[in-house]
Amino acid sequence: MRRPIIAGNWKMNKTGKEAAQLVLALIDKVKDANCEVVLCPPFTSLPQVVTLVENTNIKVGAQNMYYEESGAFTGEVSPLMLKELGVEYVIIGHSERRQYFKEDDELINKKLKAAFLYGVKPILCVGETLEQRESNQTFELIKMQLEQDLKDIKAEDVKNMVIAYEPIWAIGTGKTATAEDANEVIAFIRQNIRNMYDENTAETIRIQYGGSVKASTIKEQMAQSDIDGALVGGASLKADEFAAIVNF
Ligand code: PEP
Repeated sequence: MRRPIIAGNWKMNKTGKEAAQLVLALIDKVKDANCEVVLCPPFTSLPQVVTLVENTNIKVGAQNMYYEESGAFTGEVSPLMLKELGVEYVIIGHSERRQYFKEDDELINKKLKAAFLYGVKPILCVGETLEQRESNQTFELIKMQLEQDLKDIKAEDVKNMVIAYEPIWAIGTGKTATAEDANEVIAFIRQNIRNMYDENTAETIRIQYGGSVKASTIKEQMAQSDIDGALVGGASLKADEFAAIVNF
């Protein structure tokens, strides 16, 4: 049985002070959650969030990283830095990084390899635009993203990672994919992992849905056969809403 994983992606929100307030408000509300709970604050709040969640069931993730260990890469943060902080997860290839910061699949592949090398578990985001969905390119696009992003990555690493299926048209728009549509794409992702690796890897990897997840949508999403959790943006910024989601 795969343990569900629900992660909050705070994006570029919350100052250090606000981050501490949100974490303190969440600790008690999520302590009995029947899933892995992960918070992904901005880099500036990572050290204090790691400290605040010590001895709780909350884990911490970063929203991005570079693939080199150190060097002349102004403004970047390395996997070694994250590892040393005690950060367990890192979001890689979020659509906002692909769109606004021009991250391509080749770069994402390098970042994934670096994350595995330093023992930080990646949450790889894949998903189609509205235009791609309307022109029936969703499955072709997802297959291509998986093949390029996971190029030369071993099954043992893939078993340890998380994939988030995030249709771009559903992110921050209030439009969620129907639970059945999300499950269909997620089952397709699992089938691709089966084809690229093996049955055991496909049955072990956890695949989340992301895109305007709310307390009112999570139950139906989690009832699907292949959805193993959620990557939550906007709704992870409010303690009561995020707690209701992880306590689905
Ligand atoms: C996200 O940031 O990954 C996301 C899914 O955002 P939202 O929940 O706000 O759509």
